[in-house]
Formats: sequence, C-alpha cells, structure tokens
Amino acid sequence: MRTAIFGGTFDPIHTAHTRVAAEAANRFALDRVLFIPSAHPPHKPAGQTTPFLHRFRMVELACGSDPRFVPSRLEEHTTVSYSIDTILKVKAALAPGDELHFLIGADAFAEIGSWRRSAEVLQAVDFLVVSRPGYDYPIPPAARVHRLETLALVISSSEIRRKLESGGAVPELHPQVLAYIQTHGLYR
Ligand code: ATP
Ligand code: MG
Repeated sequence: MRTAIFGGTFDPIHTAHTRVAAEAANRFALDRVLFIPSAHPPHKPAGQTTPFLHRFRMVELACGSDPRFVPSRLEEHTTVSYSIDTILKVKAALAPGDELHFLIGADAFAEIGSWRRSAEVLQAVDFLVVSRPGYDYPIPPAARVHRLETLALVISSSEIRRKLESGGAVPELHPQVLAYIQTHGLYR
C-alpha cells in the first residue's frame, strides 16, 4: 500500500488541490491520498481561519471525486498541527512494507527548514513536491524528493476567498463545495 499525506488549511479546498493529488497518485502509483485539514488555531477568531468542521466537510465533498482520496480528521483536536506528529500517527497505523509519502506544493516545501523537528520529518518520509507558479525551493541534503513538474496551477484559497467576498464567480471550486459555502454563508 502506497499512501501520501496531503496536509493544508484547505480554507477552502479547491480544484488545484484535487488536480495535484490525482496527478501525484497517477504518477507515483499511490493507493491513497490522505487529505488532512490542519486544526483551527485556538488563538484565531472565526474569520481568520474557518472552523475545522466546515473545512473538513468541504474536503469530504471534494474527495468524493476520486476513490483514492481519503478525508482525515487526524489533526482535528490538536491545538497546533505539527507535521511530525501527524506523520508518526499515520505511520503507526501502517502495515509492514507500506510506504508513506508526503505530498506538498513548492511554496510550502520551501519553508521546510523552519518546521518543528524538520530533521526527523525529512528522515521519516519521501516528499512529492509539486511545482507552483512563482515558487522555487532548495532541497535540503537530507531530503528525499520526487519532483512533480507537470502542473503550473495559479489557483489559491486566498484568491478564492477574495473572489467570494466580492461576489465574483469561482470556477476553481468544486460545485458541491461552492454549494456548501453558499448554504452556510461562509467567506462573506
Ligand atoms: P492559501 O492561499 O490560503 O495559503 P492554498 O491554496 O495555498 O491556500 P493550502 O491549504 O495552503 O492552499 O495548501 C495545501 C497544500 O496544497 C500545500 O502543500 C500547497 O503548497 C498545495 N497547493 C495549494 N494550491 C496549489 C497549487 N495551485 N499548485 C500546487 N500546490 C498547491
Ligand atoms: Mg497555502
């Protein structure tokens, strides 16, 4: 079994997230991509980060599009989400011989040196790093990195939040996710 962890704020999840995951699954023969929304930071009021449950429900809706996509609540009750904790939890549930990868965009991978216990993170997983327009990254000597350079998607959640606030059309959202946002009055 080949699994990849795909963490993020997913505020909200968009079609670049699922494109990236599908492309990585095809290219690296992944059986599962675990979409793991980060915890709602306890010190941030609603409005800065959407509450966990809304972000998780939207992830569930978007994951319906591919049987390899699995929404995960692993970080729900953490106060701050550290990747090393998530990696160790996922690893503990794997069978002998299972492989664990970590799927990540170029912008996020560029920050890896500043992660908590980064040396252990680099030791624990192979990285599948997806190109993202405008972002370059150094590869730390200890890292095992497989580059996925076939995508250059300019979509971001920040831009989508701006569009939703101004009432514009948002074709970068899965239709079910857009419907959820409208039903619950999010991002207004
Ligand atoms: P925000 O603008 O709020 O930061 P985002 O679009 O970057 O949102 P995140 O939830 O921060 O989404 O990202 C989760 C993961 O998906 C990260 O590893 C990020 O690099 C990756 N990712 C998001 N959008 C893209 C994209 N367009 N191309 C490649 N990777 C992406
Ligand atoms: Mg981001």
